[in-house]
Amino acid sequence: MSRITAAPKTVVPKTTAQMPRNERRQIRPPEPTQLEPTKSEFGSHEHIMLVLDRLDLCYGHDASPPGMYATGEPLDGLILTLLSQNTNDRNRDKAYDTLRSILPEWEDVAKAAAEKISAAIKPGGLADIKSARMKVILDRIYADFGEYSLAAMKDWPGGRVREYLRNLDGIGPKTVACVMVFDLGIPAFPVDTHVARVSRRLGWQSEKASPEKIQDFLEAAVPPERCAGGHLNMIEHGRRVCHARNPQCGTCAVNDICRFGLGEAA
Ligand code: SF4
Repeated sequence: MSRITAAPKTVVPKTTAQMPRNERRQIRPPEPTQLEPTKSEFGSHEHIMLVLDRLDLCYGHDASPPGMYATGEPLDGLILTLLSQNTNDRNRDKAYDTLRSILPEWEDVAKAAAEKISAAIKPGGLADIKSARMKVILDRIYADFGEYSLAAMKDWPGGRVREYLRNLDGIGPKTVACVMVFDLGIPAFPVDTHVARVSRRLGWQSEKASPEKIQDFLEAAVPPERCAGGHLNMIEHGRRVCHARNPQCGTCAVNDICRFGLGEAA
């Protein structure tokens, strides 16, 4: 018996009016689907593509293909992503902007006292840890590249980029993937807490799957040209609809093809 009898309801996130104007997206109703997922189909290529298509109808980030952000200095993106650890975007940006206003060049940051860096990035939290890591990373990059820049990486293959960044102090798989996809235009699928939660609920991975395992899965399963947009759409879905507590399954655009939404056991 088919569980799909009608197109899912239109998503109307309650928080849209509260979002910054430039982040607002027009919410359009998804198309009806022919997919009737079973346990073995959750996480299939067809299932993943259908979910990504539906979420893109809601949030529209597929218009942001990999590489659209890769116009500047990748080191900027690396430090920005380092500052994003354990804080929100607003505090990250405040910390980054303050740092760049006080110490405009990365060489300035590398040669500054750790206390001065900590004071500048305090709004982003974990300031002492992040400032220490920042100095180690900048020293390493200068030793390896002869300048405070990662621009040379734009000519590197993805595997070499991933290996180099992964070996920097305090840089994990999510940060590596962010720099790759948004600063270097190399396909990668960063998995943060929102992407991990939505992936598990959709049935793409088990409830206990680690973010690293989910990232490996998504980077193998999602076509390269869908990584940046898919990542952004999933984050927005996690923030606006699939909340950690009290997910809005009743008005969710994928509620008829979601393992959690259908009440399926993991
Ligand atoms: S149906 Fe519920 S659990 Fe599934 S993605 Fe939508 S909000 Fe999340």
